[in-house]
Amino acid sequence: TIGMLAIDEKGRVAGACTTSGASWKMHGRVGDSPIVGAGLFVDGEVGGATATGLGEAVIRTAGSAIVVELMRNGMSPFDACKEATHRIYKQHKGRPEFDYLQVGFIAINKHGEYGSYSLRKGFNYAVFDEKGGNRMEDAVYYY
Ligand code: ASP
Repeated sequence: TIGMLAIDEKGRVAGACTTSGASWKMHGRVGDSPIVGAGLFVDGEVGGATATGLGEAVIRTAGSAIVVELMRNGMSPFDACKEATHRIYKQHKGRPEFDYLQVGFIAINKHGEYGSYSLRKGFNYAVFDEKGGNRMEDAVYYY
């Protein structure tokens, strides 16, 4: 999945995502990316979030909508991504799919603060801002 979040100088937040889906997917499978609230969610009053990884796990938790809702209630983008990831961890720990499960979130709030979190190592993302131009950052990971 490629997920993008942007904020302009007026504080307007936008997001987009696209995906090739899961490897060996069943014909007709719908992942999280085209489902509003799962792979992507933006609320102009709060911020936005987008997800990558096992779409079924993200759909089951309404992952990106949860991240935005947690930010609405005062969490930082990082903490909101961490909480959403932890919910997915709790749902899948000990199950057969856990061995290959990866999910990751990025989020931005309307103040331009951003954060990310992933279940496993290996998720990084690009940041472009006036402070440092274009750079890569690694998500903090849980497991
Ligand atoms: N989230 C996508 C899906 O499940 C896969 C991906 O992140 O590449 O369709």
